[in-house]
Amino acid sequence: MKKRTIRTIPQERTAMTERPAAERARDFGEVACGYTLADALRESQRCLFCPDEPCVRGCPVGIDIPGFIERLGEQDVRGAYDAIADASLLPAICGRVCPQETQCEGVCTVGDTLEPVAIGRLERFVGDAAICEGWAGEPAAERSGFAVAIVGSGPAGMACAADLARLGCDVTVFEAFQEPGGVLRYGIPDFRLPNEVVDAEIGKLARLGIAIRANTLVGRLFTLEDLIRDRGFAAVFVATGAGTPTFMGIEGESLNGVLSANELLTRANLMRARDFPAYDTPLGRLGRVAVVGAGNTAMDAMRVCRRLGADKVTCVYWRGRAEAPARAEELHHAEEEGIEFRWLTEPVAILDDGHGAVRGLRCRRMELGDPDASGRHRPVPVPDSEVDLECDSVVFAIGTNANPILGQTSKLALDPRGYIKVDGDLATSLDGVFAGGDIVTGAATVIEAMGAGRRAARSIARYLGLGGADATGGTLFGIAGGQHNYARVRVA
Ligand code: FAD
Ligand code: SF4
Repeated sequence: MKKRTIRTIPQERTAMTERPAAERARDFGEVACGYTLADALRESQRCLFCPDEPCVRGCPVGIDIPGFIERLGEQDVRGAYDAIADASLLPAICGRVCPQETQCEGVCTVGDTLEPVAIGRLERFVGDAAICEGWAGEPAAERSGFAVAIVGSGPAGMACAADLARLGCDVTVFEAFQEPGGVLRYGIPDFRLPNEVVDAEIGKLARLGIAIRANTLVGRLFTLEDLIRDRGFAAVFVATGAGTPTFMGIEGESLNGVLSANELLTRANLMRARDFPAYDTPLGRLGRVAVVGAGNTAMDAMRVCRRLGADKVTCVYWRGRAEAPARAEELHHAEEEGIEFRWLTEPVAILDDGHGAVRGLRCRRMELGDPDASGRHRPVPVPDSEVDLECDSVVFAIGTNANPILGQTSKLALDPRGYIKVDGDLATSLDGVFAGGDIVTGAATVIEAMGAGRRAARSIARYLGLGGADATGGTLFGIAGGQHNYARVRVA
């Protein structure tokens, strides 16, 4: 191949079609339409195949990015998928929701001079092709003799389940909700991540022979210890996420009309309020909504409210636009869809309409002071700057905490914030119990949770004495080609 230089590659990043804001803000259809093959081939020509591969180091699971882009450029889409699947279980999902601008694309060499290679869009193209073509892994032909329980079916649980199934373990995933997927299902709305994509990726687990037991709240129906002592599981992986909402502790939080973003999103997505009246599970009248926070969850909550017919949606955030933690693309989409932003504004009380419902949000103006421990400028209140924002609903999207149930019902050692303590192998204080994803790190990203699931699978395989443990580390992940079987006799 002729050597590419920054001057010879297409200078402009290949655009991806998006549905117009006025049209998309009325439904839950996907905003970004994805690349065509022609788009993907053109964008693949922008990769310089840098020998030092900074993008691979920028990816939390080390996908062979130049390798997959090279195959894609040769129109070998299956080869591109195989290259991605070595490291990632969920390309169609990660291509849509990963914060690429701070990961692989953030360190792409092309980005030093031009816009970086659109790695996420290319990954999505390949992931979608895999779904269309039905490319997926095959179950192990020989059994290891071990049963492993996974608690939680988000990206961490799914990745761990897939790796262990490929090592011949009998894997059962226990999920509290009625449908698997974790935040991918109940949190991230369809206009960013359609349910069909989540279904397709989870469908790969079923093809690997993994059993999913929904509606099963571990810690209430049975404990972690019961799984090992009474239910025949040789090991357990805990991947229960960080879904407990945080509130500010201000006056009026118990009024009707106050919700956490997680509740709002769960009711809209999982409980199908978005499909009312076809589903008889409405959210009620939202009216004018104030959403507190400016992260990705806040953007999702605001855009869902807009689609559910809220009269007006206002974002209230105590820092400025430049400090908002949301992905730039999500913020831009929210602005396009008519969300109003009140930057440098902090709520101090929720106002009662006299009948136990919200009538407004009292806020004060803030200004940016000296940098705090995170390096961001600390917001400080402006004296005598209180102002009332009229609204009928208040949604808090200011972060989440660990779910306490497993900590309360088992002897797991927890850190002071309630997250599960693990060692370098993701082993917890309970013998045979491992943990990873948001329940260990606190709220993070899909790809980091998936990476933790894979690391835990390797540790569990070593714990069980399965010789093929290293095969889950670099190759043969999630796809059929040339796979090995690692049959082992159960070591009593
Ligand atoms: P989760 O996805 O939280 O899954 C945990 C699962 O465990 C849940 O299904 C839960 O029901 C189940 N569970 C909990 N307790 C029990 C129990 N006792 N018994 C049985 N099951 C249990 N990340 C990105 O990379 N990009 C994004 O754009 C992005 N957007 C986000 C938007 C929202 C609204 C939210 C909330 C998060 C977002 N994230 C995003 C973060 C990302 O989704 C999480 O970091 C990731 O899903 C964590 O994966 P996990 O497997 O650790 O946990
Ligand atoms: Fe290609 Fe950018 Fe990775 Fe270099 S850093 S190999 S240009 S994607």
